[in-house]
Amino acid sequence: MKKNIIAGNWKMNNSLDDGLKLVSEIATMIKEDPVNEVEIIIVPPFIHLTVLDKLLQDYDQICLGAQNCNEHDSGAYTGEVSTAMLKSSGVDYVIIGHSERRAYFNESDELLATKVNQALSNGLTPIFCCGEPLSVRESNGQEDFVFTQLTNGLFHLSEESFGKVVIAYEPIWAIGTGVTASAAQAQEMHKAIRNHLASKYGQKAAKNCRILYGGSCKPSNAKELFALDDVDGGLIGGASLNPADFVDIIRSF
Ligand code: PEP
Repeated sequence: MKKNIIAGNWKMNNSLDDGLKLVSEIATMIKEDPVNEVEIIIVPPFIHLTVLDKLLQDYDQICLGAQNCNEHDSGAYTGEVSTAMLKSSGVDYVIIGHSERRAYFNESDELLATKVNQALSNGLTPIFCCGEPLSVRESNGQEDFVFTQLTNGLFHLSEESFGKVVIAYEPIWAIGTGVTASAAQAQEMHKAIRNHLASKYGQKAAKNCRILYGGSCKPSNAKELFALDDVDGGLIGGASLNPADFVDIIRSF
C-alpha cells in the first residue's frame, strides 16, 4: 500500500547549528510517539546533508531529500552537486522542478526531464513539482499548464521508472503567500493530475502514484487537505522550519 509523505523543504534557511537543533527536536518528538503511516523527509540545504544523515542514523522513520541536483554524471560544473554524490551522502529523495528553480534559475521542462533521468539512474526518488502561476489560474488554464509540465518532464519514462516518481502539485500563488488552495481546488487539480497520469500509464499506475500538495500548508489546514481523496501528503516550506508545526502537520492524517 502506498504511504503518505510529508517533506519539509527548508530552502536556503538555517545555519548548521539551527538545522541540527531543528532535526533533533523533530526526531525526538517522532520517536516518542511514532507516526508509522507517514514517510517523513527532511530537505535541507546540500551542505547540511552529511551531518544530518549521521544524526538520523538512530531515527529510521525520517529520511533525507535534496532541493536540487545537476543533470550530468560528473565533471567541470563548478558549484554543482551530482545525484551520485547525493546518494553517497545518505539522500533518498530529490526535489526537481520547484517553481523557485524554474523561475530564478530558468530551469526548463527539457532540463528537468534530464534531471529526473539522472536521479532515477542513481537510485534517488524524484519529487517532481508542478503548478501554475496566478495569471494562469485566473484564466482557468491551470489544468493545461500543469499537464504540459508533467508531459514534458515525465512522460518519456517507462511505466516502471514512472512508478518510482513522486509528484508535488504546488500552485505558485499559494507558495509562501499564506493563501492556501481551498480543499475543492486542491482535490480538483489532484484528481485531474491523476487522470492525466492514467491517460499515459493506466489507472493502476496513476492510483499508486503519490501526489503531494504544497503551498502554505500549516497545522490549521493540513487535516482538511490530507483528508482529500487524491492528496497523498504534503511538501511543506515555511511551516517545516518550526518543529512543533512540522510535527503537527505530520500528525494530521
Ligand atoms: C514550497 O516552497 O514548496 C512550499 C510549499 O512553501 P510554503 O509551504 O512556505 O508555501
